[in-house]
Amino acid sequence: MNTTLIRNGRVITATDDYVADVLMQDGIIHAIGKNMVVGEGVKVIDASGLYVLPGGVDTHVHLQNIIGPTVTCDTFASGTRAAAFGGTTTLVDFALQTAQDSPLEAIARAQRLADSQVNVDYSLHVIVTRVDAQVLADVRHAMRHEGVTSFKMFMAYPGVMMADDAAIFQMLRQVGADGGMVALHAENGTVIDLLIKEALEAGHASPRYHALTRPAILEGEATHRGIRLAELAEAQIYFVHVSSNQALKHIVTARAEGIPVFAETCPHYLLFDDSVYHSDEFEIAKYVMTPPLRTPDDQKHLWRALRYDDLQVIATDHCPFCMKEGHLGYQRQKMSGLHDFSKIPNGAPGIETRLTSLFDIGVMQGKLSLNRFVQLTSTTPAKLFGLFPKKGTIAVGSDADVVLFDPAATQVIHAEHLHSQCDYTLLEGRTLRGQVKKVFLRGELIVDGEQWLGREGMGRFVPRGTVQAF
Ligand SMILES: [Zn+2]
Repeated sequence: MNTTLIRNGRVITATDDYVADVLMQDGIIHAIGKNMVVGEGVKVIDASGLYVLPGGVDTHVHLQNIIGPTVTCDTFASGTRAAAFGGTTTLVDFALQTAQDSPLEAIARAQRLADSQVNVDYSLHVIVTRVDAQVLADVRHAMRHEGVTSFKMFMAYPGVMMADDAAIFQMLRQVGADGGMVALHAENGTVIDLLIKEALEAGHASPRYHALTRPAILEGEATHRGIRLAELAEAQIYFVHVSSNQALKHIVTARAEGIPVFAETCPHYLLFDDSVYHSDEFEIAKYVMTPPLRTPDDQKHLWRALRYDDLQVIATDHCPFCMKEGHLGYQRQKMSGLHDFSKIPNGAPGIETRLTSLFDIGVMQGKLSLNRFVQLTSTTPAKLFGLFPKKGTIAVGSDADVVLFDPAATQVIHAEHLHSQCDYTLLEGRTLRGQVKKVFLRGELIVDGEQWLGREGMGRFVPRGTVQAF
């Protein structure tokens, strides 16, 4: 039996902030108290001066995902190790329904790939690309018997991932009625594809045109359309990677109207703005993600929405591709778009720096309280995706997924020191205040400073319940 007492740390949840001892036993939080007396054989860790946080929950992660002609360059092994070093102990990745198979086959395939590799706990959203009666039956089965209660659909990428409005509506109606969540990638895909075609015909091939061909208004239009479909379906809905005020203003209005709309943003939209695209250097392919970075004014609106709960989640959309072709054997990564921006795989890394970067720019700059920081990165994602209170908080009976975080430490970020297989980080050379010191997964110490103590395969697939939004 593995029993550990974390002594004298400052326990911070979405609602609490107090100094106490936390006893972890049999993988769960067994007791919380003051000056607890423990017997022989109990490992005691002094956490004076450290925060005791619930393990991070990252609900938007792409590990080993096949995307077009390539694959994201973190495996379930490397990506979950990087997550752990960053203080994330549960993540939700994706299972892609291909043209040939069903959501159930997609789940089984992703589990076969992940189970032997994962270092932290995980679940899956199914990406539904095609809807018919059988698919709807399989979706219902997945919700009731597989513990998979969320489904992602794309309004972008026609001919690849895009689902039409009727398909999205059908999914919203059924999944919503069963208490699950449809997560939407909201961008008007067909108009974007036209703008890309026109840009390339005009000889505009450099990476900056990625951003210019995906204007915020097309994110706003699709967000509005998604909201109206959810309203008609009487379903809750979740928008991934909200980047712009064009999208946000529809979300704010809908919430005020009482429509159950939820949304996430990602650290990169808070850390960087579209000024990075003012270059014709291929280097800016690092910032080719979807949606693209927006203006400082959009950023201001994102912070406001985070403060007032119009945005409820900060997830990474960790979708790493290497800049150097052939790095660790990965082919057709960012360089494949050297002469055509539309061939640059969309995405950027971020799984390991989510908590520290948000602590630095959010908490330390006075934009987020500590409680709100925990709520956005752990508690609310756990609630919206049916993982709470097993995950997302520090409470008696919850999984002992615990992060010891040093608010006084500083670190300088370099890709070579991170644990992702990606050969760059958007935060290269940046100094961040705050550092993850120790990480426990179900009571087991897996990260101890620089030292890795976890094991591939020790992570578990976590069956999820329905949305706990209200
Ligand atoms: Zn994504």
